[in-house]
Amino acid sequence: MVRAPSRHWTLARRLTATLVGTALLSTTLAFLVHDRALERGLRGNAQRRLLRAAQAGDLLITDHLAQLEMRYRSLAGAPQVRATLELAHAPTSAHYAERLRSEQRAALIAFLDSRGALHARSGDSALALAVRRAHQPGLLSAGGRLYAAVRVPVRLGGSQTHAMLAAEPVDDALLGRWSELCGAPLRIGAPGAGGDELLAAPIRAQDGVELFVTADLAPERAALTSARAKLALAGSAALAITLAACSFLARSLVRPIRQVQEAVAGIGNGALGTRLGSRRTDEIGEVARGVDQMAEQLLVSHSALEARNDELHQSQAHLAKAQQIARLGSFELDLESGELMGSAEFWALYSIEHPGRGKPPSELAERLHPEDRRSVLEAVRGSLETGAGAHLDHRILLPDGTERFFQTQFHIVRHADGRARRLEGTVQDLTERRRTEQQIRYLAYHDGLTGLGNRLMFSERVELAIRQSRRNRTKLGVLFLDLNDFKRINDTLGHGVGDELLREVADRLVRGAREIASRELDQGFEPAVARLGGDEFTVLVTDLRDVGDLALVAEHLLHVLHRPYRLEQNEIVINASIGIATWPADGERVETLLSSADSAMYHAKAAGHNSYQFYDASMNEVAGRRLAVEVRLRHALEQGALALHLQPKLELASGRIVGFEALARWQDGELGVVSPADFVPVAEQTGLISPLGRWVFAEVCRLVSQSDAKLAQAAARVSFNVSAREFGPRFAHDIAATIEQHGVNPQRLQLEITESAIMRDEQAVVAALEELRELGLSIALDDFGTGYSSLSYLRRLPVDTLKMDGSFIRSIDRDAEAAALTRSIVAMGKALGLRVIAEGVELPKQRALLARWGCDEIQGFLVAAPLPPEKALARLSRRARGARR
Ligand code: C2E
Ligand code: CA
Ligand code: CA
Repeated sequence: MVRAPSRHWTLARRLTATLVGTALLSTTLAFLVHDRALERGLRGNAQRRLLRAAQAGDLLITDHLAQLEMRYRSLAGAPQVRATLELAHAPTSAHYAERLRSEQRAALIAFLDSRGALHARSGDSALALAVRRAHQPGLLSAGGRLYAAVRVPVRLGGSQTHAMLAAEPVDDALLGRWSELCGAPLRIGAPGAGGDELLAAPIRAQDGVELFVTADLAPERAALTSARAKLALAGSAALAITLAACSFLARSLVRPIRQVQEAVAGIGNGALGTRLGSRRTDEIGEVARGVDQMAEQLLVSHSALEARNDELHQSQAHLAKAQQIARLGSFELDLESGELMGSAEFWALYSIEHPGRGKPPSELAERLHPEDRRSVLEAVRGSLETGAGAHLDHRILLPDGTERFFQTQFHIVRHADGRARRLEGTVQDLTERRRTEQQIRYLAYHDGLTGLGNRLMFSERVELAIRQSRRNRTKLGVLFLDLNDFKRINDTLGHGVGDELLREVADRLVRGAREIASRELDQGFEPAVARLGGDEFTVLVTDLRDVGDLALVAEHLLHVLHRPYRLEQNEIVINASIGIATWPADGERVETLLSSADSAMYHAKAAGHNSYQFYDASMNEVAGRRLAVEVRLRHALEQGALALHLQPKLELASGRIVGFEALARWQDGELGVVSPADFVPVAEQTGLISPLGRWVFAEVCRLVSQSDAKLAQAAARVSFNVSAREFGPRFAHDIAATIEQHGVNPQRLQLEITESAIMRDEQAVVAALEELRELGLSIALDDFGTGYSSLSYLRRLPVDTLKMDGSFIRSIDRDAEAAALTRSIVAMGKALGLRVIAEGVELPKQRALLARWGCDEIQGFLVAAPLPPEKALARLSRRARGARR
């Protein structure tokens, strides 16, 4: 927050006061200095002028006296004067003096004899005395008046010399004339009467009279006053201008500063959109731009912060949701206060009402299963002692009596000084997962339909048996059994009957093998029976003394299988063919042994119904048959006698067709329509699978690029099947090249692969799948539920979709176990973030169940059989339009 400035002493006021004060002070100072100088100048001038006037006055007086003397000297030289004085008759002389005085308008005319005594006179006696006394004639005063006086000699005959004295008044007219000539008034006064009057200058002082000039300072004073007035005016004007300038300056400085201040306050209060937009080029402009820039950056970081905040909230919500989905709770036990804090899911898992604040842990201990309580508490105590974390699997017992499997993990958080501070950890409810894993484990080793062991279990059993036989130096045999014409029964009586038949066959095989083993072979353990898939079964017989005993087993099994079956009002009789291979003669390893038994079985089939056949070298015949198929298939590939059909996949949520599975079809001139189930295995064994696969994929790409727009509109993918043997080191590369060649969008493609194919060479296959996924293809795990599947294993596979095998989907509407299994596979798939699709869906009821359990897609005859591409794609557009409407 920006504090509002004090209103008393704002910057504007301070600035104005300073400037005005300075102006006032300097103006006053200037005024005073100037005034003093002016006054001093005026006085000096007046004095100089007076001095000059005094000098001029002096000259005028001197000149006046000189003229006076000259005039009286010439009068004194006149013969009449000499004659009169030679008479030495005083009254005559006085008379003459009287006449001269009036002629000359003098105040005094007197004559002195040669001894200096007064001979005659005319005029005031006091004046005469003053003139006689003055040691030097000139100006003198008498009777309060000023006179100009002279003494001139009068030469008579001989050596006698008389003198004439004359005095003329200096009257006001004369003074006025002199004043005019001097430029200053002349005044008479007693000596010292001028005193120290500054503006008076003495001209001369004589005999008690002083003459001086005076100066009148009034004009100077008037000029000074006027100058002062003007100066004051100028000062006031300057002050006013300064004031105006100050207020302008203050306004121009303070207003933008105030704006900046308000903007900063606004920004501080969150108005981040505030902008000053100043165009000033000075420092304030720079500050304003700085503020704008700051606001801009604040806005940017503010929005980034908000976005991050949103993300945080979102991810917290996601976390809570994720915890709920994963049934995972987190907790913290404060070891100092003993308070236990837990996430919402944590309390939910323990079925304890969320306490809001912490809770003592004792209530939780009560929930532990009595059998596990001690070990759990001991583990916690041990952890606290050693400081190590722990990882516990234990059970809890809820108040309603249900038991759940928990996994609890925790570690210890310490203070800086090493003391244990709290215990942090998570609890996960693994009950469902355990159940699923148990089921999946069961699935992994068992055939869902018959409950027999599957290929995996059988292979492991054979492997074990081979090791034992090697140790015990005994022999063992594998019987490979295939029902004849089972496909026909399946097709004519329906899959339900087919399945029922397979279960019955399985039962009879198990019982038959047990009977014959105990009766004829004197065996320690009963023969292992497995179903490899479809109508193929295998039986393992160990501890053989004579491989010929296997014939007994085969005959007995053929016999028990041949007895009629009663299945839904039908009485069915079936035949089987059995191929027999022995260890070590017909194969050292499990695969070769099985493959030999398989060949022998084909041989038996060819030989006639309900027969068995030992493997032997002459079985090249079988190889011959395969060669024939291979030749025809190669031909078919070259001649384009193969075709692809597309089977639509339907999305349950939207009811739209969202994809197709491409399935190979072979129409052979001699053999008729050959099922891929028949020719794909041959292709796999002969190496033709690679060209077949390449043809299939090229054809898929061709179809996709042709109908790209349609597929893209429905966001549909076309999936293609890939056999185990197609995976070579260049597989991913070839796929990428074909995609490139056809210019196909990889998003339109999906690869279907079985788990057994992946397991053949897991590392290489997984790497290839990951590469394809990078390209944009999606990966579906085909026939899921029949192979080896464990949750942890699934998690490692780069797959997007689980495709549940049709064999158990087909019975979910009537078999609770199949239903439970399917349901848990869907749940598990979803928990792993996979898309789940069910194949082999034939009935509306199955569709409804799958929809309810959250299965994403279905494929099967209910939606459509595999169709020629044009027909299949036509469905896509119809459905897509329907969906839009
Ligand atoms: P798959 O991948 O499991 O294909 C599904 C099989 O189930 C197809 O048989 C299909 O016609 C059939 N099917 C579809 N809906 C239903 C239904 O509702 N009920 C029943 N009972 N069956 C249904 P198809 O076409 O005979 O193919 C058999 C197997 O041959 C395929 O099994 C696949 O493994 C293999 N295959 C087919 N085409 C190719 C191919 O191009 N390449 C390779 N490598 N294998 C292929
Ligand atoms: Ca498939
Ligand atoms: Ca399948």
